[in-house]
Amino acid sequence: MNKIKAEIEGVSTIAIAGHIRPDGDCVGSCLGLSQYLIENFPQLTEVTVYLEEVPGSYQFLKGADKIRNSYEDKKEYDLFIALDSGDKERLGKAQCYFDTAKKTVCIDHHISNKGYAKVNYIVPDASSTAEVIFDMIEQEKITKEVAEALYMGIVHDTGVFQYSCTSPKTMRVAAVLMEKGIDFNRIIDETFNYKTYVQKQILGRALLESIMLLDGKCIVSAIRQKEFEFYNVKPSDLDGIVSQLRTTKGVEVAIFLYESNVQEYRVSMRSNGNVDVNEVACYFGGGGHVRAAGCTMQGSVYDVLNNLTGQIERQLHQKQEKDE
Ligand code: AMP
Ligand code: MN
Ligand code: MN
Repeated sequence: MNKIKAEIEGVSTIAIAGHIRPDGDCVGSCLGLSQYLIENFPQLTEVTVYLEEVPGSYQFLKGADKIRNSYEDKKEYDLFIALDSGDKERLGKAQCYFDTAKKTVCIDHHISNKGYAKVNYIVPDASSTAEVIFDMIEQEKITKEVAEALYMGIVHDTGVFQYSCTSPKTMRVAAVLMEKGIDFNRIIDETFNYKTYVQKQILGRALLESIMLLDGKCIVSAIRQKEFEFYNVKPSDLDGIVSQLRTTKGVEVAIFLYESNVQEYRVSMRSNGNVDVNEVACYFGGGGHVRAAGCTMQGSVYDVLNNLTGQIERQLHQKQEKDE
């Protein structure tokens, strides 16, 4: 309870940051916590959120217009709070403030997180970082604005309470947040369900061009740079594609790749439970959760898939031997 209060004792200035290519949980956690701190601790002279460009649909959240994306100021914060970032490198440019801060706290739920801050609150069983934050603050002091941000975080990381990371506890937290009077239906539709026309088109293309590997246990799709240009899309327009691939009957693992640079691919993986994709991602220098993980890999699509499916096949064999 109220662990946040203990962490900010004697602190005047705070920087809060999440991971690169921020998703709903990352943005919701950063804005929910910063808003809570601003509202409840007048002794704080500065609470600044640093994040890469945030998708337009999240702009309705209180404080979204104050998010900073420039790092020129040579500031030394009393406290740096890292949210939803499984390792220090994923903080991107905000690492400069992490390195100079007098104290660092990490709040996260990635199983791959080794605890890179001075104080670490890592709860791998939690659905989202937003759920972890909920447990660290006072329920009675949660305003509608804070509730909106935390609810959005939970909605995104649970796929609207559908993924296996959703627990009875998650539902209880969501219930408390709903009671704060939030427009939950609008949050779900406008930040999670609605896609622009080009986002739907690129999803359609990814599904159409997908291939099955490992006897139908693995579904794969890739988007190359030239397709980004053709459809005029950016990486954040690709959110949700890998989840669509996962729900293909018979599939154990879905892999979605996009070309992030010449001979370089961003890898997103989702599992239906029999393969630990965090283990696969960690093997290639990334991380995440058992059923949702990612990494960046070098080479052609063929090289990347060969390496990934090699690891997945090994796990499937091991499981088969154990079951026999
Ligand atoms: P994504 O497929 O990008 O949605 O990522 C799935 C999950 O894995 C998210 O919780 C990410 O934060 C995490 N993740 C993705 N890439 C990495 C990485 N390179 N290192 C650590 N965690 C990652
Ligand atoms: Mn995230
Ligand atoms: Mn998360």
